[in-house]
Amino acid sequence: MDIREKDQKYIAHTYGRVPLTLSGGHGSYVTDDAGKEYIDLGSGIAVNTFGVADPGWVQAVTAQLSRLQHTSNYYYTEPMARLAELLCEKTGMSRVFFSNSGAEANECAIKAARKYSFDRYGEGRKKIITLKDSFHGRTVTTLSATGQDSLHNYFAPFTEGFAYVQAGDREALAAEADDSCCAIMMELIQGEGGVNVLDADFVRYAVELARERDILILADEVQTGNGRTGKLYAWMHYGFQPDIFTTAKGLAGGLPLGATVFSKKTKDVLTPGSHGSTFGGNPVCAAGAVYVMEHLDDALLQEVKEKGDYVRKSLAGLPGVTEVTGMGLMIGVGLAKNLAEAVEACRQKGVLVLTAHDRMRLLPPLNIPFPVLREGIERIKEVIGE
Ligand SMILES: *Cc1c(COP(=O)(O)O)cnc(C)c1O
Repeated sequence: MDIREKDQKYIAHTYGRVPLTLSGGHGSYVTDDAGKEYIDLGSGIAVNTFGVADPGWVQAVTAQLSRLQHTSNYYYTEPMARLAELLCEKTGMSRVFFSNSGAEANECAIKAARKYSFDRYGEGRKKIITLKDSFHGRTVTTLSATGQDSLHNYFAPFTEGFAYVQAGDREALAAEADDSCCAIMMELIQGEGGVNVLDADFVRYAVELARERDILILADEVQTGNGRTGKLYAWMHYGFQPDIFTTAKGLAGGLPLGATVFSKKTKDVLTPGSHGSTFGGNPVCAAGAVYVMEHLDDALLQEVKEKGDYVRKSLAGLPGVTEVTGMGLMIGVGLAKNLAEAVEACRQKGVLVLTAHDRMRLLPPLNIPFPVLREGIERIKEVIGE
């Protein structure tokens, strides 16, 4: 049996796989089992922050791997403490809880928001407002939080206490932000929903409304975080600090790690025994993340912005391109032609791209060299022009 047959036979059929087996790579290239190279403009969905096998990152991870691969959260470890310090110092936030994925990071934020409210007001303020077309994860509660009816099937009963508001609809937001509401949760750029950038005035309105009513703002930075948009976290583009933000995907540069980051106001909500995770903050993953955080400096973020602007300028206005959305190296491209066919044609030309809702989605490694990015975009332009 070859790899694909084995996979089809033994692995649950939850993914519509692309007929491609990847076995290696370097930098912004991945290699298939026949040795063909592809320019990777997806980074494994915004995970491989510095591409494949970045030498400094590999060194940081393997050094920790051969020192101590795991210990329980009953003990202190250096990489976890250092990573939390970096996350707080670079954001002005106060405390971190580590888990292993985006869904878990959001689950923790949801628990903390409800407990914050319970501690202050007692029972009754359980509602969390999320946005339509959002995506917050695949657990029963984070699916509930996700504002897409198509995902609210099969698995009932779903967790109660979520209300969905269309981004931009101030009246609906104000109406839902009542005495029973403890938090508003949003992605500042909706990733899976199609790379939809939230309107700055709407976000400001939501933040002001929330502050007036002691409702927490939870920013889901699972996809937008860790330099992806040209700032360390997307909320930094919007001029406010969330009460809690979550991140995962690119945080550890290719290893599973989630973080829920608390402000001064929420830092003491989680108390001993109220939450936990066996693997959360694992020292190998944390060492990878320390490397990532230490290398996301202003010069790199400036480069992310410039590369993003280059992509936008190259594609916007082309015949066949209906719109270009996003910020930094999180880019959505609306196409006149069939999206699935375009993605497949890109693969034939040796460039891997993603989709989000009805757009092509580009999430290249943040350190992709300019010439490689240019080559990838030229190939996409050929596909669009065909
Ligand atoms: C990917 C994603 C998640 C879920 O992350 P997992 O690591 O797959 O659990 C949650 N929120 C957003 C915004 C995401 O992009």
